[in-house]
Amino acid sequence: MKRRTRIAPSPTGIAHVGTAWMSLFDWGLAQQTDGAFVVRIEDTDRRRFIAEAESEIYRAFEWLGITYDEGGQKSGPHAPYHQSKRLDIYQNYATQLEEEGHLYPCFCSSDRLKEMRDTQQKNGTPPGYDGLCRALTQEEIIANKDAGESYVLRLKTPTAGTISWNDAIRGQISFDLAHIDDAVMIKSDGFPTYHFAVVIDDHLMEITHVLRGEEWISSGPKHLLLYRYLEWEPPIFAHMPLIRNADKSKLSKRKNDVSIMSYKEKGYLPEALVNFIVLLGWSHPEGKEIFSLEEFLKVVSLDRVQTTGPIFDTKKLDWMNGQYIRSLSKEELHTRLVPFLPRDFPLDQYHAIIPLVTERLVTLADVEGLTAFFYRTPEVPANLLLKRADGSLVAEQLKLLITTLDQVGTWEAAEIERRIRSLGETHNYHKKQFFMMIRVAVTGSTQTPPLFETMEVIGKQAVLERLQSAQQLAQAA
Ligand code: GLU
Repeated sequence: MKRRTRIAPSPTGIAHVGTAWMSLFDWGLAQQTDGAFVVRIEDTDRRRFIAEAESEIYRAFEWLGITYDEGGQKSGPHAPYHQSKRLDIYQNYATQLEEEGHLYPCFCSSDRLKEMRDTQQKNGTPPGYDGLCRALTQEEIIANKDAGESYVLRLKTPTAGTISWNDAIRGQISFDLAHIDDAVMIKSDGFPTYHFAVVIDDHLMEITHVLRGEEWISSGPKHLLLYRYLEWEPPIFAHMPLIRNADKSKLSKRKNDVSIMSYKEKGYLPEALVNFIVLLGWSHPEGKEIFSLEEFLKVVSLDRVQTTGPIFDTKKLDWMNGQYIRSLSKEELHTRLVPFLPRDFPLDQYHAIIPLVTERLVTLADVEGLTAFFYRTPEVPANLLLKRADGSLVAEQLKLLITTLDQVGTWEAAEIERRIRSLGETHNYHKKQFFMMIRVAVTGSTQTPPLFETMEVIGKQAVLERLQSAQQLAQAA
């Protein structure tokens, strides 16, 4: 069987990492059977609609390397793929179901509904529509409609019995229909609700596997009833686990960064982000941690999806990103780094500087912080400079160092090292103190790439100037 899957984002905000996560599973499952992965835009909630949100999804897909077969910016045999352009389709089915008695008009005012909810809350009874308008006679309905009263269409849910499905991830799921209220299917503005549109579209678009978040499990009964009333075969449902923050709460904008494009800006590689997110709630059959998108698409399967909510652990993402950065060829790393190099980065020294810091890059954006001291005079903190010796000794050491280094002819790491070591030995300086003090004087920091290579790249003139300022600092202390 050719699988047809879909992602159905609502463009109401940023392009969410959860959307990319689900899409990758959809895409892989479809591709394995030469089926189709469809992008359907669920844009019927006009109050929450944001036009740029949709284009951001496409930008995010492009950056991550996610492609699809139908819908989105493409077309396809089931166009249109925007729900807002399919209103007449929903309307037709709504009319049919209303005529058949499966949907009924509800004229309850928002005031009445609020009062009902308040009472339910006060009495501790389960929330949900109390079914008042179910009892309206045909005459009353016609009279209300003729009077121009606004109404919604609700799903007539059986008051007893159970409904169940075999979830591809969770196995058998059953609901007692007595606890399911009559949900709104068509709003008073004529727009369908999610429940209604999703069923019509998944069927018409011949979707075979519906992957969606665990938060939609409770909607299952409503959807299955619609399939039953329409006499359609339901698709296979797979409710994916909810991605969580480290504290187990639902992954939210506040706690974690969920915007795909923000990871681009922060210097993550798309292949690292993809690798990281597909491991949320899923494991590679051979237990691999690092693998390509192509490999994932081939081996993904729903039986390896877990039901407990995976943790969005950005520390792991950082680790992975570092792994991916270090696996890039020199040329590839250069291409990726260019947008992150600060304006004053000395491009002519690129090949001297970058190999010295590559090992320490967690993100591409780290390049500025890790290289700035090569081309900007650093701030030298006196406490670091004088950490292991007092001002007069350090000033004395620096004075001798300046004289020694001034005499170096060929400014190369090996020669610089030889001179500095011999100076240290002659005066019997404490090794750790002496070398760390030089490192701080030259770079402003205790953590830098190898000292002598670094000094070579910074250049004789600049090194001597930095040592002189450090000497003044030590003297003044
Ligand atoms: N528009 C829904 C969402 O954004 C789609 C849910 C589904 O996949 O059915 O969550």
